[in-house]
Amino acid sequence: MKIINLLKGSKPGVSCELFPPKQGSQLANALEIVDTIAEQKPSFISVTYGAGGSNAGEAVAVAAEVHKCGIPSMAHFTCINADDQGIEAMLKQLQAKGIDNVLALRGDLPEGTSLEHAEYQHASDLAKKIKSFGDFCVGGACYPEGHPESAGLNDDIEKLKIKVDSGVEFLVTQMFFDNDVMYNYMYRLLAHGITVPVVPGVMPVTNAKQIQHICKLSGTKLPLRFRAIVEKYGDDPEAMKQAGINYATAQVLDLLANGFMDVHIYTMNRPEIIGGILQNLSCIVK
Ligand code: FAD
Repeated sequence: MKIINLLKGSKPGVSCELFPPKQGSQLANALEIVDTIAEQKPSFISVTYGAGGSNAGEAVAVAAEVHKCGIPSMAHFTCINADDQGIEAMLKQLQAKGIDNVLALRGDLPEGTSLEHAEYQHASDLAKKIKSFGDFCVGGACYPEGHPESAGLNDDIEKLKIKVDSGVEFLVTQMFFDNDVMYNYMYRLLAHGITVPVVPGVMPVTNAKQIQHICKLSGTKLPLRFRAIVEKYGDDPEAMKQAGINYATAQVLDLLANGFMDVHIYTMNRPEIIGGILQNLSCIVK
């Protein structure tokens, strides 16, 4: 099922992201995680792609398992260092497994490299390629607080418009912890003529160390009320887990109440996290 049809429908949903194992020996465990999460009935599941495609086989296998469980499956795919031949081979594999949703990404620049000689320089180039290759529904990433390499939020949104005009049908955001950031971003997208559906990304923070690392990498800001939670409960793993699930639930509830059709949860492959959120929202997301 194409994700754009879900987003244009009338049923609100909560989707989630999984990552594939780094080694084939861990694949059986990853497939079990898919089965457990699929039982919770998220609206769709996306599967990340390792930098440089080192575990592409595992990523396709996990995305295929999602599809087998009857949940719409979306494969992430990065184009940095990729060429036409490699991209087409990957797309053929996805088609063979019945996966018709792809999140077209550039990927992070490996340290000390530049885009200068890359065949595919931007996610927009990949989106165009995928659309011309076959009948895929193509999503793209966006950054409510700006992409770290961009000259500023307006510049980033101008580049995002190129991506949307290249065939991206919906957007999934980088995580954020303050919903006002998201609402402000939506006004800016509209002002730039970007009207495709946007799926906000929410990360339930269940571990204080994890959050410091992630925020440093992505530039995501932590609101004071969230910092207070991490300071108070960060040293108690069970309390932090519950607080993280509840903070994320409140974010999702507010986003759905304000008109978003779907919210994407970064689950870190832990079924109890998406399960906790869906249970909290059981009368809202049915
Ligand atoms: P782009 O859209 O190409 O943007 C990258 C930078 O280039 C931005 O600063 C943008 O403003 C600028 N830009 C874009 N288009 C143009 C243009 N035409 N001309 C000039 N400048 C331009 N990484 C992984 O390795 N695997 C994953 O599975 C993965 N999943 C992700 C999922 C989500 C929802 C998000 C938000 C990110 C994910 N990432 C993943 C991280 C992502 O690969 C990095 O953030 C990467 O640095 C940028 O990828 P992008 O697709 O946003 O790139």
